[in-house]
Amino acid sequence: MAERSGVPYPKYLTISRLNSSDGLQRVSVELIRNVLENISCGPIEYCQKLSNGTVLVKTWGSLNAAKLAQVGFFSLSSSIDLAVREHWSLNHGRAVMHSYELAQHCEAEILQQLQEHDVIHVSKITRRRKRNKEHETGLIILQFAHPYPPPSIRMGDKVVRLHPYVPHPTRCSNCLLFGHPARTCQRPRTCANCGYAYHLTAGERCNRAQACLNCRTRKVPHSRHHTFDRECPTFIWEDQIRAISIVSGVSRRRAISIYKSHSRRDRPMSHFSEVARLSYLKLRASETLFN
Ligand SMILES: [Zn+2]
Ligand SMILES: [Zn+2]
Ligand SMILES: [Zn+2]
Repeated sequence: MAERSGVPYPKYLTISRLNSSDGLQRVSVELIRNVLENISCGPIEYCQKLSNGTVLVKTWGSLNAAKLAQVGFFSLSSSIDLAVREHWSLNHGRAVMHSYELAQHCEAEILQQLQEHDVIHVSKITRRRKRNKEHETGLIILQFAHPYPPPSIRMGDKVVRLHPYVPHPTRCSNCLLFGHPARTCQRPRTCANCGYAYHLTAGERCNRAQACLNCRTRKVPHSRHHTFDRECPTFIWEDQIRAISIVSGVSRRRAISIYKSHSRRDRPMSHFSEVARLSYLKLRASETLFN
């Protein structure tokens, strides 16, 4: 329920454990919800445990969220202290626009021009070419003050269409599995070449046979490639699931079921609307854009 004023909309918060390496897996989510409702003096739309040991909270309004974010932390018991933080990506939707004219300006100038459209952050997508020189692509990522980017924005007498922003899947730089960042990783470091526990000293290269950890974990038949190979079947699968989830606005679970139902019927990925799919493919065509 986004409101155009840009102030009252449901806000997402992250609850994480303080002063302990344990996550919140064994803590009652209902208990957390009750305490949050008492602090914010209002109902919470949902509390959901995440696999990284934190809890995702969606409030009914920004007033609730503001009260909770101001609190910063609270105690559930004498041994469980919790931190409350705003969820950056869920509260601030992202989209991509294409403009060679704007790309000639620096990011601060572009931001100034787009502030009236509730844009709070911009970053240009550049491509590295020969001699490591950065080249403008004309693509600019916009981050908004609210979760829902508009389909287009008006600049002078022009209407500029916005495209869904589809980043590559999150990959842990420690264990190399998809789905979590390194700062929440509880697993041992992995060698990207052989897929086993990290065994190299500084400057040393792995001479073992290549084996992709992600494909081995998913039991994909062809796993004899480097873990960072862009042709890795697991990377491509994760990438498509994420694209379906973002472009169609559905959960990961729903995106997987859409993907499976279409691959069973042996049809190309026409599950999102044709327009959204084309805009996605157009952006994807520039391979290096998203990392
Ligand atoms: Zn990890
Ligand atoms: Zn190795
Ligand atoms: Zn692989």
